[in-house]
Amino acid sequence: MPSRPSAEQPESAAAAVLERFKLGDSAPIPVDKIAKALGAQIRYSPLDDELSGMIYIKDGTPIIGVNALHHVNRQRFTIAHECGHLELHRDLLSAEIHVDKEYEVPVLVFNRDHESALGTKPIEIQANRFAAALLVPHALLQKALDGKSGSADIDDESPLDELARKFRVSKSMMEYRLKSLSAK
Ligand SMILES: [Zn+2]
Repeated sequence: MPSRPSAEQPESAAAAVLERFKLGDSAPIPVDKIAKALGAQIRYSPLDDELSGMIYIKDGTPIIGVNALHHVNRQRFTIAHECGHLELHRDLLSAEIHVDKEYEVPVLVFNRDHESALGTKPIEIQANRFAAALLVPHALLQKALDGKSGSADIDDESPLDELARKFRVSKSMMEYRLKSLSAK
């Protein structure tokens, strides 16, 4: 029996998911396929702007709700975040609908001081770290960076913009992943 991923190691859990389904080889990461591979159904519906998404289990099937009105990059983050809950916090989900509000999730994820000031819950931080590692795997990011060196093109797009576009994530997410890569 495979051991449950540790909630303390969201990055390894995300890497394990990519490896398990062989879905981590090229950017952008197909996060909707990953959700389906994990057994979840994704439902898009218009929600209040402050709501990013939710996850709950219905008749044994995890349902991920996504705000249809949000930008696609934000939706991708939401799906990845909910996949994090599914992998790391499944026990909590059986009891209740888990709803993610925007101010708790994507924007401030990457600022620890802000996080603690807001009292962001540990499970949200874990799901965010899972989402970041799922959407921007370090190996793939390194590959993208290596591919760029040597090309001396004059580009009107900054490397950060270009990488964010390639991985279909926000610039703040890409900044965070670049920082964590160089801190390794
Ligand atoms: Zn959450």
